[in-house]
Amino acid sequence: SVRVRFAPSPTGPLHIGGARSALFNWLLARKYNGTMIVRIEDTDLERSSRESEENILKALEWLGLDWDEGIGKGGSNGPYRQTERLDIYREYAQKLLAAGQAYYCYCTEEELDAERQALLAKGEMPRYLGKCRHLTEEDRARYEAEGRKPVIRFRVPENENIVVRDLVRGNVVFESNGIGDYVIVKSDGIPTYNFAVVLDDALMGITHVVRGEEHLSNTPRQLMIYDALGLQAPQFAHVSLILGKDRSKMSKRHGATAIEQYEKLGYLPEALVNFLVLLGWSPEGEEEIFSLEQLVEQFSLDRVAKNPAVFDLDKLNWLNGYYIRQSPVERIAAMALPYLKEAGYVSDQVTADSEWLKMVVASVQEYLSYVAEITEHVKIYFNEDFDFESEEAKNILLDEDFPRVAELFKEKITALEELTPETAKQMLKALTKELKLGGKKVYMPLRVALTGQTHGPELFYIIPILGKEKALARLASSQA
Ligand code: GLU
Repeated sequence: SVRVRFAPSPTGPLHIGGARSALFNWLLARKYNGTMIVRIEDTDLERSSRESEENILKALEWLGLDWDEGIGKGGSNGPYRQTERLDIYREYAQKLLAAGQAYYCYCTEEELDAERQALLAKGEMPRYLGKCRHLTEEDRARYEAEGRKPVIRFRVPENENIVVRDLVRGNVVFESNGIGDYVIVKSDGIPTYNFAVVLDDALMGITHVVRGEEHLSNTPRQLMIYDALGLQAPQFAHVSLILGKDRSKMSKRHGATAIEQYEKLGYLPEALVNFLVLLGWSPEGEEEIFSLEQLVEQFSLDRVAKNPAVFDLDKLNWLNGYYIRQSPVERIAAMALPYLKEAGYVSDQVTADSEWLKMVVASVQEYLSYVAEITEHVKIYFNEDFDFESEEAKNILLDEDFPRVAELFKEKITALEELTPETAKQMLKALTKELKLGGKKVYMPLRVALTGQTHGPELFYIIPILGKEKALARLASSQA
């Protein structure tokens, strides 16, 4: 059965690219009733932190991507953090050493650097040329006596073609001669990624490795280790890089890169998931809106593209706006409340179930690309000394019929027992009818009088949100 994994390095928050990998793996697991494993690649001791690990796990949960085995879940293949698996790596490193497929290397940084420079000067790819490949016991003893701490290097076979059979890219051939003997265990005894990942994937019975294209050049190195240890390699699928709209590598310039930033701005997880899946996967039909359940059904690796995916923030905003409009107002109100408090627009006493709050949110829900934006859209309700949008807007108040409109409006709103969007709507209708005026002569000047703007939420929302007192006060000052 299918066993997939997400194996982030906890060196920062979960990013768009990592989240996409997690999603693709998750979809495969769920589609084939397989197992989703989450484990942690924390061998970079300096840059790894528990804080980042927690951030990543929280972001996965927020996206709705759960897992069956691994961190926080347990399972029979643990531990699931690489720093807790050092004995395992040591054991296999010893096997490779004993078989002559790996060797100790005592080269210093300076020596390696000199070699790199010399190769570069000749126009060759920098790589390790195997200086320590054939050290004798005496050589080793001498280096040890000097206090040098060795690394362990994998002995790359010569003159071989290493073929990565990639489910997305087809066969990708690498020449072993271009790959120098690489480090599998560092001098502090910590394994490198290319070594540890092989043992984890093999010992955890991983059947499919789906990860970013940036790892493609690591894969031949990993395949050689599977080979050397007689371990069964999983199938690989490398999904394309994510580029910005200007075709350069996705970076902060193109939009937030961390999932938590989107969460903080009030994006909906289902919108982000929908957006992420389209970064590389293309559906069969025209439809672009997919729930996780629909994706589980429709996702397949053979519709994952080789060419780079382009990160289009406008598209994310469009998708998110769509999901916001589809959401019950209660949900968006609960999300909006902290932003409104932060902006000082609502008091700390207001709770998410406040009818007034729901009215505020309902009035602008259709305009939102993400919830944090709400403070811009609702300004009109809270800024008392607003400026008129333009001279033209101000001139609308000079309409010859407006005094009659204002007079009757005052009368009617004062008489209203209950001011709700429904009663406001009826009142405006009745007013228009009684004055025998076109809607434009009523709605536009009232809107300008109440908000200073010619555009914005429906008037039947604006009026009850302001309430009688404020509405009357604004009307009065607009006529002063
Ligand atoms: N720790 C690696 C990363 O975060 C994962 C590589 C892999 O999936 O093999 O990029």
